[in-house]
Amino acid sequence: MNAAKIISTIQVDLDGLWTNLQYYGYESDVSPDAIFETAIPRYIDLFKEFNIKATFFVIGKDTEDPKKKALLQRLHEEGHELANHTYTHPFGLRKLTKEQKLQEIEKGEKAIISITGKKPLGFKSPGYDVDPETQQILREKGYIYDSSVIPTFVYPIIMRINSFVTGSAKRTHGPKLHWFLAPNSPYFPAVDSEWKKGKKMEQSSVSIPLLEIPCTTMPFFKIPIHATFALKFGMLYFLPTYFATRIVRIPINYELHAADLADVISDPRLGHLVGMPLERRMSLCRKMLKIMTKHHHFVTSIELAKTFNRGDKEQIRWL
Ligand SMILES: [Zn+2]
Repeated sequence: MNAAKIISTIQVDLDGLWTNLQYYGYESDVSPDAIFETAIPRYIDLFKEFNIKATFFVIGKDTEDPKKKALLQRLHEEGHELANHTYTHPFGLRKLTKEQKLQEIEKGEKAIISITGKKPLGFKSPGYDVDPETQQILREKGYIYDSSVIPTFVYPIIMRINSFVTGSAKRTHGPKLHWFLAPNSPYFPAVDSEWKKGKKMEQSSVSIPLLEIPCTTMPFFKIPIHATFALKFGMLYFLPTYFATRIVRIPINYELHAADLADVISDPRLGHLVGMPLERRMSLCRKMLKIMTKHHHFVTSIELAKTFNRGDKEQIRWL
């Protein structure tokens, strides 16, 4: 039994060139997009090689461009899940009004329906920024899972140091410091707290309870294990952080971004993306997937959520 693979998921956030520029306060058209357009064909090939069905978080606005829409169509035809990552990718979603949140979610939803013909059932807020109100909207709209929480202290601390060093205004969006106490495996959030475990029954006002599938971090130390860090620091970072998840046998949610497999972007405004050559990133991703697929069986996030909803035997102990 112990040798059985742990059911887990891989998520790719399709934050393209304009989204990365937006993060630094620059405006840009949706296309051309050297990040989005070069990364997707590589993800299709890589996941095919490892027989993985993944979940891609789509920003609705990207479907306005026919070239991008065709790439999203290919992902869908390959059997990957397309999930909602809002329509305009606003940083600071939880500060928006309820009406604005609803609009971001509904417009993002329609964009995905225009490709798959089906309503998406998973959501991720831009920049790990979610609150109970957003989760309640998702419940009322029949979503099965959210993936906006990351249980780590690393991002909030980096953000505080950044604003201290640069003297810039403190950023108020992103993960909250106390989220490092949030569960590191999927949980049904309490109705009044996005990061605290609640009871499935508490959500009885809706027919389907909402599951939070957090972005997995290293057990005990709560440092991120996902690709943004692993590709920066290499296998010596990946191995201990990943193997710690195996010790506790949690289902993992391994996160990647479009930029991780995109061409090298030489835009000086995006200094943080210029770094490792593509060949090295590809080779690291292959090594990581080779190791992870030995111990984890990767399914789309909606499939993973269903195993929790049904209360499958292997998942029940995490609830
Ligand atoms: Zn994003």
